[in-house]
Order: sequence, then structure tokens, then C-alpha cells
Amino acid sequence: MGKTQLFGGIIGLLGVLYVQANLPAPASSSRDTKKWIPFPTGLYSFSHTVSHLVGDLPTVPWHNLVWNSPSIPRMKFILWSAVQSKLPTLDSKSMSKHINICPLCSESMESHDHIFLNCSFVSPLWRFIKYKCSMFTALRSWEALVRWASAKWKAKNSGNLLRKLGLLVLVYHTWEERNARIFRGKKASQRAVCAKICSTIFAILKLGCFRDCASSRSILKDWNISPSCCRSPLRPPD
Ligand SMILES: [Zn+2]
Repeated sequence: MGKTQLFGGIIGLLGVLYVQANLPAPASSSRDTKKWIPFPTGLYSFSHTVSHLVGDLPTVPWHNLVWNSPSIPRMKFILWSAVQSKLPTLDSKSMSKHINICPLCSESMESHDHIFLNCSFVSPLWRFIKYKCSMFTALRSWEALVRWASAKWKAKNSGNLLRKLGLLVLVYHTWEERNARIFRGKKASQRAVCAKICSTIFAILKLGCFRDCASSRSILKDWNISPSCCRSPLRPPD
């Protein structure tokens, strides 16, 4: 959000508060009801309020990749930061030049390209995710991968949902392991991180996030999940 938009938003909010502070006293004895003045329906909505304050912003190409996947908010937050290359990797200017070696492999400088694609610790995890989620890409640049996946996995089907979930969980557990090594001095093996990735995807798939179709049932079978074991039944097809 730019400074101008933020300033406009604050002015808009002050305007709303001013109107509310100057409402006339109720004239009748009828019961008070709450009404959100900026909208004709009178109902409060967070997204409408943001639109009202800052205006309609363009949708970013990676919107679906980050927000329309079945997962938990903290994972989406990490991916949201990662797709914009905003995670504080050790190659960033704010970090010391003396501690920029990747804590996962101790071989190269840590960057988004390295830690999420080219790191020798993460490469086997990528192979596992690609195999289990039927991904076919050999891109070596993080920015190119985000661009490619955003364009390729747009359609709403169970295969794309699984691929987005795989990417999200891989990024989350890679970043979690990196932080554990730097800030807590704890190290997990590749096998342990792979087990975490697998169990997280398994747990999310068991929530029953798919529509009921042959493709969804095939994916659940690959992950050894019976549709009847899902916490929510598979949703009817469109
Ligand atoms: Zn590395």
C-alpha cells in the first residue's frame, strides 16, 4: 500500500467516524440496530471496508497460488512472503555479510533461489513433492517457478489443489527447519523434514478439501486415505 493510499484510507476512516459522531439521537423508542454506513446493506464486511478505505487494488498473478489452497493461515503467510521474495534470507542487505551461508547445507549463500530450489538439503524434498503431487518442472529460479505455477495451476481441480498444497507445505517446513537451525540450534535430518511434510499434507487432505470426482479419489488413494476417513465428506462436483 502506498503512502497516498494509506493517507486516503485514514482520511476516509476519519470521515466515517465524523459521520457516526454526528448522528442524531434516536427519535423513537424502537430498538437500536447496528448499521455499517458505507454500505447500502448496512452489514459490516472486512474486505468491503478495506476496498472502501484504500480503493480497489489490482489482483496479483500469484493470488490463487497463495490464497486458494487448502491449508492453515501461518503457512499461507510464509508462502505469501516467499512469493514476493520478502523472507529475510541471509543474502538480504539487512543481514550481516559474514553469516550468509545457508544453514541447511552450509555450501552456498542463502537466497530464495537457493533455499527453495537449489539447496542440496531441499533437492530430495523437491523430488519427493514432485513425485507425490505430479509436478513437472525443472525451473531453477524461484521467481520463474512462482510465475510458472501461478499461470499453470489456475484451474480449480483436485490435481492443482494438491500441487499448490505441496509447494506451500514444502516452503513452510523448509523455512521452519532453517529457522530452527539459526535461532534454536536444533537440526532435523532430511528424512525427518520429509516425514513432517508428508504428515502435514496427509492431515490437510484428511480434512476433506476435495470435490468428489475420480481424480480426487485417485489422489486420496495415492496418499492411502479412504474418502470415508475424511473429517468432512467430499463435496459434490460442480
Ligand atoms: Zn543450502
